[in-house]
Amino acid sequence: MADRLEIEGVVEAVRDVVGVAGSIALHEPEFSGNEKTYLNHCIDSTFVSSIGEFVDRFEAMLSERTGSRHAIACVNGTAALQVALQLAGVRTNDEVIVPALTFVATANSVSFSGAVPHFLDSESRTLGLSAKALAERLDAIGERGPQGIRNAETGRRIAAIVPMHAFGHPVDLAGLMEVAETWNIPVVEDATESLGTLYRNRHTGTFGLLSALSFNGNKIITTGGGGAILTGDDELARRAKHITTTAKLPHRWAFDHDEIGYNFRLPNLNAALGCAQLEQLDDFVERKRRLAARYRAAFERIPGIKVFVEPVGARSNYWLNALLLDENEAEQRDELLDALNDAGVMSRPAWTLLHWLPMYRECPRGSLPVAESLARRIVNVPSSARLAHA
Ligand SMILES: *Cc1c(COP(=O)(O)O)cnc(C)c1O
Repeated sequence: MADRLEIEGVVEAVRDVVGVAGSIALHEPEFSGNEKTYLNHCIDSTFVSSIGEFVDRFEAMLSERTGSRHAIACVNGTAALQVALQLAGVRTNDEVIVPALTFVATANSVSFSGAVPHFLDSESRTLGLSAKALAERLDAIGERGPQGIRNAETGRRIAAIVPMHAFGHPVDLAGLMEVAETWNIPVVEDATESLGTLYRNRHTGTFGLLSALSFNGNKIITTGGGGAILTGDDELARRAKHITTTAKLPHRWAFDHDEIGYNFRLPNLNAALGCAQLEQLDDFVERKRRLAARYRAAFERIPGIKVFVEPVGARSNYWLNALLLDENEAEQRDELLDALNDAGVMSRPAWTLLHWLPMYRECPRGSLPVAESLARRIVNVPSSARLAHA
């Protein structure tokens, strides 16, 4: 078996890229800008909680940076996705199409709305939801009716499609939007991993009716915890702000609420951190792209494994670098993960496919050959922006 993957060679190649000394985290935040200045300002002002100038400023900066007409900050990306789905019209007992290969929060946000996730396949070109799988599935089970599109097998309405830009690489938005428009089903983008990523020169998260961003500690910028809803629709933006801020009616002193709202506000303290982080986003993206190029070069001559490269038409943020084992080498993945982690290089596989998790085992799904293959072959390796200096 001359072409067997050389585990030692792979560990060496990763070590060459990330530096030879010490243990290396998968992803760590970097605070080398105005973080402390803004946080001090925030504390001095006493406005650390749900009211304050940094929230407005952060939202304005997000809107400007992404080109989205509106950005509404919230407490985390999962909450942003949950509210985005609700505003897209997802209701109890609806079905929502999501990729099987994603972080569990994509499906959980569907469940929080009382709806059921319907898992479809990914494509290896993007690692994201396949437009072809979507079109074929809708042709097979989609039924047009007075309430919209029904899944003929389950009787439930298919209320939304949620593509996710995995590891910061955009899905085939042109293909997916075309299918979604043909069937008149709203698209909500899970753009929690793709802040700074462009698809055909336009920011991911601005193609769907709504989208969600995340600023969790491991994402490309962090607010500690945090998220945002993006939308180009004025009324949806107004609704998003309203229901994430307890549905309180603005008044000098009266305390009135006109519906059941969430307390999903992003505290001013977190927004202050976000403003400082967003100022550095371009720099983070540049460095992460350089790091990705170095991984690519290091793996050029290593057989049995490849570095995943951004799809055509994309300018990815390369949030997490992904190595992709050849099909024949897939059974060596766990051995490789052990060797990398033993060597102090924190690495991990892709998420366990959602239809393999106990709570989602019975959900409707299409056939998932690509997602199942990718899930067995992906290894994420250290991707902090600072490693570009190593
Ligand atoms: C991070 C992430 C989320 C959720 O974001 P949180 O801010 O952690 O709630 C949702 N979907 C995907 C794919 C993510 O990577």
